This record gives sequence, C-alpha cells and structure tokens, in this order.
Amino acid sequence: MTEKEAASRMKHLAAEITKNSRLYYDLDSPVISDYDYDMMFRELKELEGKYPSLADPNSPTKRVGGEAATGFEPVTHTVPLGSLSDVFDFDEVRAFVGRTKAFDAECSYSVECKIDGLSVALRYENGVFVRGATRGDGRVGENVTENLRTVRSIPLTLNTEKLNGMDTSVVEVRGEVYMPHSSFERLNAEREKRGEALFANPRNAAAGTLRQLDPKVCASRGLDIFVFNYQTGTLDFKEHDESLLALEKLGFRIIPYLKVVKTADEVVAQIEEIGKMRGTLPFDIDGVVIKVNDLALRRTIGENSATPKWAVAYKFPPEEKETRLTDIVIQVGRTGILTPNAVLEPVKLAGTTVSRATLHNLDFIRERDIMIGDTVVLRKAGDIIPEVVRAVPEKRDGTQVPFEMPERCPSCGEPVELDEESEGSAYYCTNADCPAQIMRNLIHFASKGAMDIDGLGPALLEKLHENGLVKSIADIYSLTAEELAGLERMGEKSAAKLISSIEKSKSAGLARLLSALGIRQVGDKAAAVIAARFGDIEELFTATPEMLCEIDDVGAITAENIVSFFSHPQTRRMIDRLKDAGVVMTAEKAASGDDRFAGMTFVLTGTLPDMTRDEASALITSHGGKVTGSVSKKTSYVVAGAEAGSKLAKAESLGVPVIDEAELLRMTGV
Ligand code: ZN
Repeated sequence: MTEKEAASRMKHLAAEITKNSRLYYDLDSPVISDYDYDMMFRELKELEGKYPSLADPNSPTKRVGGEAATGFEPVTHTVPLGSLSDVFDFDEVRAFVGRTKAFDAECSYSVECKIDGLSVALRYENGVFVRGATRGDGRVGENVTENLRTVRSIPLTLNTEKLNGMDTSVVEVRGEVYMPHSSFERLNAEREKRGEALFANPRNAAAGTLRQLDPKVCASRGLDIFVFNYQTGTLDFKEHDESLLALEKLGFRIIPYLKVVKTADEVVAQIEEIGKMRGTLPFDIDGVVIKVNDLALRRTIGENSATPKWAVAYKFPPEEKETRLTDIVIQVGRTGILTPNAVLEPVKLAGTTVSRATLHNLDFIRERDIMIGDTVVLRKAGDIIPEVVRAVPEKRDGTQVPFEMPERCPSCGEPVELDEESEGSAYYCTNADCPAQIMRNLIHFASKGAMDIDGLGPALLEKLHENGLVKSIADIYSLTAEELAGLERMGEKSAAKLISSIEKSKSAGLARLLSALGIRQVGDKAAAVIAARFGDIEELFTATPEMLCEIDDVGAITAENIVSFFSHPQTRRMIDRLKDAGVVMTAEKAASGDDRFAGMTFVLTGTLPDMTRDEASALITSHGGKVTGSVSKKTSYVVAGAEAGSKLAKAESLGVPVIDEAELLRMTGV
C-alpha cells in the first residue's frame, strides 16, 4: 500500500466508523455487524500505527465511544470507564499472557464472559444507592439513576453488615446492563403489534430503554445487570476475584462463569468453555475478558493511552448455527420483485429465534447450491439480519429438491418476467396492480425516508387497507378525521394528529415524492438529483431516457424504469389525484434559473440539523453550485454540521469559510 492509498483508506475507515458508531450509540440502530465494526476499527488503528504522520488527531480511535445524549444530566465519572483492547484469536491471547508474565511469572488471570450490554457506574454512600450513570465517552456519562432504580437486581441499599468491620461508606462499582432474551422477544412482539420499528438486538433495546425519559417505561422492559468491577471507594482489596465476592455479599449480582487461572493454556481452555455456552445462555455475550487478577500488579503493568495493559477482550466471531431449510417461499416486493425466502426450522441465533431468512435471488441459491430440505448454516450478519451462509450437502438424504422460480406471481397469478439486465437474476411480477405490491407501496410511501407521515405505520395501513379506506397511495390524502376516529383503538386526538401529519407530508417536495413512489432503482439519492434537474413532476412525463442519462447518478436501466413508470396511465391518474389533494410536485427553487452559486464549490461535512446530504447537494446544484468531496484552497464554502471531522479541520487550516445549514439557506434566499 502506498502512502497515498493508506491515507485514502484511513479516511474511508474513519468516516465509516464515525457514521456507524453514531448509528450504534446515539440512534440505537446499527446497520453493520459489531464484528465488521471491530475489524474496521482495528485496521484503522494498525494503519495509524504504521503511518503516524497521516493519523488524524480527531480519529475515532482516539475516542472511547458514545457521546452523552441530551435529556440527561451529565456525570463526570470518579474513575473513568475505560475500554479494553480487543483481540480476535488465541495467538493474541497467548501474547497477552506472555507480556504480563514478564512482570510476574506467578501472575494469575480472571477470565469472565463479556456481557453484550451497556456499561454503567453505580455509586453508594453509606450503603444507599445515590447515583447511576451510563458510560458516555468514558469520562462523562449520563445520569440515569431513576431508570436504574427500576432494575430489580440493582440493590437500593447494601447488606453492609455482611462485610463485618470493613469501611463501606463509599462503594462505586461498574456493571453491564443488559436485556435478557425473554424480555427482548416480548418487547419486540409488542412493538410489532403496534407497528413500531423493532430493536435490532437485545443490546440496542437495552440502550434505548436506559435512555427512556420516563422511568416507568424502563421499569416495564425487564432490564437486568451483572456487576463486574469494584471501581473505587473506601473498601480495599488485594485481588479482583476477592473484590467481586465481597460485592456479591453486599447484594450485587456479579458476573457469572468467572474463573481464575494461571497459564495461557488454561486461559484459552476457559475461553473455549465460555464459547460453547454462548447461544445457550439467556442473555447475549460477545466475548471473554481476561484480566490480571492481582490489583497491585495491575498498577505495575500500567496503561496505554486509552486502554489498560493488564486486560484484553477476546471477541467471538459471528455466531453460526445449522438448521433445516424446510421450504422456499416467494415474497413480492414493493417494486414487484420476487424474493425467495428460506423457511427454517426455528433456531436460536445470537439471542433471537430465527425462522426466516432472505435468499435474495435465484443466483444466490444456485451459487450456494441450496436445495429445499437441505441442512444449512445460518449466521447473523451484524447480529441483525440472519443470513444463509451455505448448504451442507454431506447431510442430504435424497429427499431434497431443487428450487425453481415460479412462472406466475404467487400474489396475483400474473406472469413473472426475468429482468435480463439486473444483477443476480431478478424476477418481477408484471402486474402493476398486484395486491402484494400495493401494500408494500403504501408502507414505503408513508415511511420515514419517503413522505414521512408520522403515525401511519404498517399496522395502521394494513387496517386501513382491510377496511377499504386506503386502496391506493392517493387514497391516503382523502382520509378524514371521522373515518379514522371510527377505527378500533383510534382516539379522536390521534386521528387529528394523523390528519395533521398527512397534511404536513404534502409539502415534502419533489425529491422525497419521487423516492416515495417506489420506482424501481430510484432511491433517495437518484430522486434528489432527478428532482434538482427536472424541478417539476410534469417534466418527467415527457422526459426521454437520453435526458435522464445525462444525470450523473442515473444509469440506462434506471432511466428506462423511470420512463416506463411515467408512461403508465395509472401513474397519470395517481399524480393527478395527488396534485388535486395539494401534494407539492415541484422541487424547491429547483433549476429556477437562479444560479447565484455559479462557479462556486461546496463541501459538505457532518450531519446537518434538518437536511440530508442529498437534499443539501440538490439545493446547491439547483442554484448552479458544485459539490465536491474534498476540501482544497479552491473550495468556496464548507457546510458543516454535527460531528464534522477532518474536512472541517482542513477548511480551518486553509482559511476556507465554514458555514452551517442555516447560513446556507440564508444564502439561497430562503
Ligand atoms: Zn403479482
């Protein structure tokens, strides 16, 4: 790798890590697996070690992770809640043992399971629970005392009499709050019923729960805790395991399966032992922690800048399990695409029961040689989406049958068609009025990234569809408060609220509308650039594929899809009805001949308060400006939002003016 390649790889990794850690910590909605995240983190760290001159002082590796969210009072931890350095194989574990044995050949190790939850610090004064805080960035966390009080296994008063003669006036401990599988499954089942977004995994559910502003909500969700460290206080211990036994006497629920061992072989054996238990436990663990047991020796061994040298965390690879694939069923998607789904014998995997998994398309099935009736290996990518990794042909008994794509749509019975040009042999239902598509079109239309109609989720749409109130997208806009209030479990207040969010969605603008219509291959980004270029939906009814292809982000197939979509008579009828209802069909300020930004170059960085990057780009380009990815002396303005990184620093060092979203809007005359 050349220095230039390294620099660009580091930049890419830093951006991905920042983005994903924000999704993970602040929004509780991860999109990549922890394992992949760890791998990116580690690669970045290695590159920074190799090319220290290229290392960004604001690199995500310099932070412990997670920033205090608003709504809770900040707490500065008495003792920082540090993180451990991760290792991924047994050689690295042995190397760690070797390094620590160099300080003391008699060194022993506490080997503990690593609970996949959230770290908290609990403080007790004179035996009474006075404060509980999240880890936050390690130094400053959030005061979540009221929520933690609702966790039943957190003692509100300590059994101080059990530690006869010891000074228990101040006790501060660290533990991991987690959501047991049973609580997690119950919570998601309830959310599904209400049409709310599901939590990806127990840890995200625990994170979301601990930050509920209403402790009653927290109390109802069944969080639990394991305490794994004595942080500070008036007690004094020589060894870690001794301190945990004392904490147990005080009434804490301490980390299970802890074992103190001496040699590298014993450490590895204990990791394997815990690894075998994983998947059978009623809670998630994501690794094993190995710590030097002698507390005085820990002080001798010392710390690196961000992590102690006397402990490491061994991280498990993604969990895999075998099960039987009993059938392959077809799901008809929003755009008419037919997706084969595996029906599986239910199996517990990374904390949840899995009985379905997507098989994506026919190529996926052929490549992996998957037959109906096969034993298959399942994995959870990102501990979120279950994935069929491969079939196990050795376990075939002759009853397996190959899978064939159906010739007719399982939902409407119309013929299906192979899209020759698409990747992965995509089959489509040719019937635009296919009922399977209508329901999904509706859900997509109202969803957050599209028209964002707050309160109009899948469950309610399903109900409206059943009652015949909403048969097509345009019907949403003829709903009345009376009709809504007549529905079961819908009060007048929520009906009025829904009507107002439907009203509000009318001004979403052309870009969001285009993305909401669910045209094949037209996602947010393409919709934004098309809206900026054409400005008015009427222009799209007469646009040719050539005109569309002139746009950078639009390829030939997408262009064909758009032209075909706007050539259907039902599209014309739908757009007319939406227009009559008052839905805005134009892009704000789009291609209005207003080119006040002509000749100017903009760079976007960080998260803007109201606009997505694509919206901001579209706004700039529609006024004649250009948006580029990197800051140079020629950059006219850097538009910076929250968590802006190295681009901001670079702009400042080059003297490029930095503006915020509000300033950008002012400049466009909004
Ligand atoms: Zn169909």
